[in-house]
Amino acid sequence: MAPRKLAAGNWKMNGDLAALAEIDALAEAHPEPGCEVLICPPALLVHPMKGRVGAHAIAVGGQDCHARASGAHTGDISAAQLKDAGADYVILGHSERRADHGETDAMVAAKAAAAHAAGLVAVICVGETEAQRDAGETLAVIGAQLAGSIPAGATAANTVIAYEPVWAIGTGRTPTNDQIAEVHGFMRDQLGGRVGDSGNVRLLYGGSVKPGNAAEIFAIGDVDGALVGGASLKAADFSGIIAAL
Ligand code: PGA
Repeated sequence: MAPRKLAAGNWKMNGDLAALAEIDALAEAHPEPGCEVLICPPALLVHPMKGRVGAHAIAVGGQDCHARASGAHTGDISAAQLKDAGADYVILGHSERRADHGETDAMVAAKAAAAHAAGLVAVICVGETEAQRDAGETLAVIGAQLAGSIPAGATAANTVIAYEPVWAIGTGRTPTNDQIAEVHGFMRDQLGGRVGDSGNVRLLYGGSVKPGNAAEIFAIGDVDGALVGGASLKAADFSGIIAAL
């Protein structure tokens, strides 16, 4: 059976308890969504969001976890703690974490292994900077990030890959359809032999996905959904993206 497509929202460092009203609106708009729906709020909101979701078909995820299961790591959150709070997914290696916190591919792989051990699906992010694209290095960069960031034991069931060109995040700019197709096809090839059931790994596109461009992006081969930042904050916007999948 083909995997269900995934509409994943990344709230980043936005939202508060009052913003959980968006969950009610989303659930009302999509009582039976045609794709899997995931929202990754700030860690403090994972548990209350899970409670707010109730029986609705909306999964909740974290935006990062520590590579260790527990211990003296002030300010960090373990994968098991996310799971305990109600998360089923965790975003790892987002370019903002790589930039703000110096996360390397090896660190992302260690975090993803911890996520798998805790029973979370890891949404591993990769993507080139504008300078790397201009230098013709896009596929080399993506290939290296995939090789370094995916842990042993990754399968289509426990791993999702998100291609997010750094220059397309929050900018309103997106790659051409051909550019997205090229990277996604490349990623599918790269996963072969390395990730279990690689043909079924969900490959998300992320970077300025909006209701207005979602259908066109979802029509591209090997695009199995989206990782959405700004347009996931309001149910009215995210709804349009869910409807396009
Ligand atoms: P954006 O962010 O949709 O606001 O461009 C995407 C992301 O960073 O996941």
